[in-house]
Amino acid sequence: MTVPFVDLQKQYVSIKSEIDSALLSVFSAGQFIKGSSVSTFESSFKKLIGADYCIGTGNGTDSLFLSLKALGIGSGDEVLTPAFSWISSAEVISLTGAKPVFIDIEPLTFTMNPDLVEDKITKNTKAIILVHLFGSPANTNHVLSICKKYNLSLIEDCAQSHLSEENGKVAGTIGHVSAFSFYPTKNLGAYGDAGCLVTNDKVLAEVIRRLANHGALQKDDHRMEGLNSRMDELQAAILNVKINHLKTWNDLRIQHANSYDKLLDGVSEITTPARRPGTRHTFHAYVIRAKKRDELKKYLVEKGVETVIHYPKALTSLPVYQEMGFREKDFPIASRAQDEVLSLPIYPEISSGQIEYVCEMIKKFYKI
Ligand SMILES: *Cc1c(COP(=O)(O)O)cnc(C)c1O
Repeated sequence: MTVPFVDLQKQYVSIKSEIDSALLSVFSAGQFIKGSSVSTFESSFKKLIGADYCIGTGNGTDSLFLSLKALGIGSGDEVLTPAFSWISSAEVISLTGAKPVFIDIEPLTFTMNPDLVEDKITKNTKAIILVHLFGSPANTNHVLSICKKYNLSLIEDCAQSHLSEENGKVAGTIGHVSAFSFYPTKNLGAYGDAGCLVTNDKVLAEVIRRLANHGALQKDDHRMEGLNSRMDELQAAILNVKINHLKTWNDLRIQHANSYDKLLDGVSEITTPARRPGTRHTFHAYVIRAKKRDELKKYLVEKGVETVIHYPKALTSLPVYQEMGFREKDFPIASRAQDEVLSLPIYPEISSGQIEYVCEMIKKFYKI
């Protein structure tokens, strides 16, 4: 048997007629930028999430960057961000001219440890980027209370957490502004790059909309400099089809995660992913911690099972940040995670037979 890490073709086949006709209507309409598919998507997505405003963008990284720019963050400012994440949640800070300040994560949920935050706040701190990594909701209410105390903005990075929930609130509705990515493999994925921002702040929404479109809301109305970062019509048309399947697909991911949990129960060499009480983890990734991780990964390849390491290096261990002089012992949890994490295949279309096979092979490796 082979188990690929993701299988986007399988999903396409299941919605082929809907996707094909959505694309054909964009081709016939001949409007490829700033057309009705994007505005339809923006209004469906804000309804789905429960936010007042949604602005489509070119990708999730731009969404994060635009949120910082709209908040006026730049040179001399500091922004707190987790030590363990995808590089987007750090590089966008430096790109504004501000300084990323890294916070270690919690060992079970892989999200920023709120107890370490206050120590890192200085008079220059302006915002916190909180990442709901792997679909696991971060401790947002706790971090929000710190933001209120120090008058900081809270940006939620929801690239991996479409419709994750925390105490009944959808991820992306607790902070001041939230960034989403629709990279093809995300829980809601386009067939290319796309992203968006959501917020309840009318003024911020308008500034973001301008910044994403050369500073203009209408043609030639340039009130500031900005970027060209717009969701395009083809991607929006695809997302308008896929958004109707997101809840079902998330339910399937959760079912598959529960199956993995059950089948891997009792394998003492691995730790299965934790769910923070009162949250809905939407399993963008099913990340285990494994003893002899690299040998296990190699063994699984031989058995036809593809896995991925998210991430082989904590942000604080990446070459790009070496000049900041971090030591691994300053970020003990993130540094340990980089040596232990392994993401098993999880997507709505994976079969129970495939999941059973992956678990069988893991047990065989540990001679159970
Ligand atoms: C995917 C991702 C992003 C960036 O999204 P792109 O659309 O690829 O630019 C940002 N943060 C996290 C945590 C991500 O996983």
